Amino acid sequence: MASSSISAAGQPGRIRILNQPSSNPSGPVIYWMFRDQRVKDNWALIHSIEQANKRNVPLAIAFNLFDQFLGAKARQLGFMLRGLKQLHKKIQEDFDIPFFLFQGEAVDTIPKFLKECGASLLVMDFSPLREVRSWKDTICEKVSDSVSIHEVDAHNVVPVWVASNKLEYSAKTLRSKINKLLPEYLIDFPTLGPVKKKWDKPTCVVDWENLIAQVVRKGAEVPELEWCIPGEVAAMEVLMGLEKGFLTRRLRNYNTERNNPMKPKSLSGLSPYLHFGQISAQRCALEACKVRTVSPQSVDAFLEELIVRRELADNFCYYQPHYDSIQGAWEWARKTLMDHVSDKREHLYTKEQLEKAQTADHLWNASQMELVHHGKMHGFMRMYWAKKILEWTSGPVEALAISIYLNDKYHIDGRDPNGYVGCMWSICGVHDQGWKERPVFGKIRYMNYAGCKRKFDVDGYTAYIKRLVGETKKRKAEILLTNKAKELCP
Ligand SMILES: Cc1cc2nc3c(=O)[nH]c(=O)nc-3n(C[C@H](O)[C@H](O)[C@H](O)COP(=O)(O)OP(=O)(O)OC[C@H]3O[C@@H](n4cnc5c(N)ncnc54)[C@H](O)[C@@H]3O)c2cc1C
Repeated sequence: MASSSISAAGQPGRIRILNQPSSNPSGPVIYWMFRDQRVKDNWALIHSIEQANKRNVPLAIAFNLFDQFLGAKARQLGFMLRGLKQLHKKIQEDFDIPFFLFQGEAVDTIPKFLKECGASLLVMDFSPLREVRSWKDTICEKVSDSVSIHEVDAHNVVPVWVASNKLEYSAKTLRSKINKLLPEYLIDFPTLGPVKKKWDKPTCVVDWENLIAQVVRKGAEVPELEWCIPGEVAAMEVLMGLEKGFLTRRLRNYNTERNNPMKPKSLSGLSPYLHFGQISAQRCALEACKVRTVSPQSVDAFLEELIVRRELADNFCYYQPHYDSIQGAWEWARKTLMDHVSDKREHLYTKEQLEKAQTADHLWNASQMELVHHGKMHGFMRMYWAKKILEWTSGPVEALAISIYLNDKYHIDGRDPNGYVGCMWSICGVHDQGWKERPVFGKIRYMNYAGCKRKFDVDGYTAYIKRLVGETKKRKAEILLTNKAKELCP
């Protein structure tokens, strides 16, 4: 098939052809879903259906559950699997598309499945993370002479490779490029039609409850969150639910209160859903544009974070192979950090002390408790939190390693380009400029307790976190007791 006939509803730039065999087999299309775990507003799924219908072949979705992926625990895996359970039901019942769940290494399970079902086309969604890119390279090698492979950027509003062909220096340099392309890419999604040719091979039965129980047991060190309901329906509710939706109820305060950790509801709360692809950023942007007249400044500020900052993070991880190490910092930042690496630190804490929130700074301890127990630290506190880790450890290498470790272990939205770039911004000045030179930080932007005190009610925040953690612990104890009672008298 000629590459010119490629289209995810008329946007050729959204798709890249990674493999095009000379022969033209007539087997099914397989969509290996990884980052964009949703039925609605998913360009990779739209493209898969279009291709299946053009080729007059059936379509199936495959998902691979890794034994281990970047340290994800019950908190993240439970959320993901509960979302996938809903997706499985919806895609099968509403669209009659089978869903296959594999466990193990995708480099084995996906090629094996393609071979077994005689696939003609593999569609993959896009992630800039090195692990995912390396699996894709291996899969491409394994299936090179038999199966076409298309990669669809279903995560970004403007596909990462279209927005820019290089590592961008800052939000300023990417913003103008993205803004120029928005009329072409920030478009409405077509309605998902049926796949004409039905799957006639055996399908897959998943014992979701058993699988979730296993995964949750294995990753119990970081338990699931009660407050964050997984799935596409819940995601849309957070975006625009009538009672507590961001665009319907909470938008007005975004511009003025999003940097106040005492007002977490002023933020959208969408990051868990965006991270797991349970909602499309493009859908969030389209809906936000519709209510711009209600609060133009809030909508503009939200779109800046949702599109420019988020897609800048993908740009960084895509074009900078060292996206999570000091080697990935700009030259000026590396130099200034190294110039100050032997500066005396007022406090030095170990990873264990930091993880247990045992520092002399009650504000920092509160943010760490918010991370561990609530699973989503306020955006403003994330910056302070990471910068303090730089101040209290032996240098940027250790600081980066510890901040990424804690971020990925406890955040429901962790293991995301935004997280790597957030830590790199805070510790290595990525996408930032140089500031007045000072001990330890050099020219990296500095944040301190006094600055926070000027900005918001620091004592109010620590008291609020204390309450939040107390309530979370109490509810957990109640659930444990109820479960124990059920075991004793079933
Ligand atoms: C040290 C550090 C670590 C971070 N770790 C993560 C992480 O693991 N996962 C994650 O998704 N975000 C991370 N961020 C970015 C940001 O703090 C969160 O995206 C935001 O707090 C999520 O809450 P929200 O969706 O309610 O935010 P909102 O303000 O409502 O933002 C809406 C969306 O815009 C995007 N966004 C907002 N702020 C940023 C930003 N600074 N950079 C890139 N995109 C942004 C996110 O996708 C977010 O969901 C980190 C930032 C820092 C400084």
